[in-house]
Amino acid sequence: MKVHDFTLPKDYQPEPGRYAKMNYRRCGRSGIRLPELSLGLWHNFGYADNLLIARKILRRSFDLGITHFDLANNYGPPFGAAEEAFGNFLKKDFMPYRDQLIISTKAGYDMWDGPYGNFGSRKYLIASIDQSLERMGLEYVDIFYHHRPDPDTPLEETMGALDQIVRSGKALYVGISNYPADLSMQAAEILEGLKTPFIIHQARYSLLDRWVEEGLTDVLSKKGLGLIAFSPLAQGLLSDKYIKGIPEGSRAAKSLTYLTSINVKESIEQVLELNKVAESRGQSLSQMAISWLLKDSSVASVLIGVSSLEQLDNNYEALANKSFTEKELNIIDQIMKK
Ligand code: NDP
Repeated sequence: MKVHDFTLPKDYQPEPGRYAKMNYRRCGRSGIRLPELSLGLWHNFGYADNLLIARKILRRSFDLGITHFDLANNYGPPFGAAEEAFGNFLKKDFMPYRDQLIISTKAGYDMWDGPYGNFGSRKYLIASIDQSLERMGLEYVDIFYHHRPDPDTPLEETMGALDQIVRSGKALYVGISNYPADLSMQAAEILEGLKTPFIIHQARYSLLDRWVEEGLTDVLSKKGLGLIAFSPLAQGLLSDKYIKGIPEGSRAAKSLTYLTSINVKESIEQVLELNKVAESRGQSLSQMAISWLLKDSSVASVLIGVSSLEQLDNNYEALANKSFTEKELNIIDQIMKK
């Protein structure tokens, strides 16, 4: 695999005032504090993407105080491409700042052919972290996640693999993602028994998808785990992007299955109403969607994805207003019940 090399000035100097631009929240009961906004590399860092923009997005993020970059073995396309691109930019721009960064990766979805490249076996997870480290040119990641529950592998095996990954120095902390409340509790208990530094759950959470409120947040607070909310804009639905239709180049216009024109049609009425609430608060809808997640201290960080510097700057401005009146919250709840 080869990553295209888009050259920017080599002498990247991060913004000296970056840490005054961001608040950092404690991740559960761990020693780590995460930036209120973290950057995810699921989209926009594959071979077909404009990697010059991708590199600029990473630089601007760090300049804004975003210290956490989130990856997974299969981000691309093709699988592995985002880690490889990130590794390339890390080497060129960020290695002097490695100790100022929280870099995470994951394994759990389809990654390589055959029976050992998916789900949650010890075989898969241990091979996958080695591959990820090689692609990124790192000795360790800060957080390694099991990406989704495996219905067939015993939980003890999967959690044991996470434990071994930490003990072999390949990750500092571990997390789980997409685990329902009951399984998260069981995972926490196993990892407590092993004394593994398990600190975080990565879950889909947005105004349009509030499943975590039905039990998961209680488990996380009982177990002292942080919550990092992914797809906070429901992949762009919670922005002004789709208000006048589906623009060319947007996720819903691309032939990926994740966000479809059907999703857009189903939610557009609510989106239009939410947009009015955002306007009344002097925010864009994407800003309000991020602020709404950060109003609760139970959310350690909001994990965004962006395809341009403009989107990043727009979303960053959400941090200027994270409080809501009772009236605003009631109106939002009423809209979401429709
Ligand atoms: P978002 O919900 O933030 O969606 C990002 C997309 O929304 C962008 O690519 C862009 O779409 C659009 N967008 C962002 N900002 C704006 C704006 N200001 N105005 C208009 N449109 C905007 O997050 P993602 O779904 O990308 O998820 C974020 C990260 O979470 C991922 O990169 C990944 O790290 C993680 N994740 C984890 C999962 C897991 O299973 N653990 C699953 C999914 C994500 P466009 O590209 O069309 O311009």
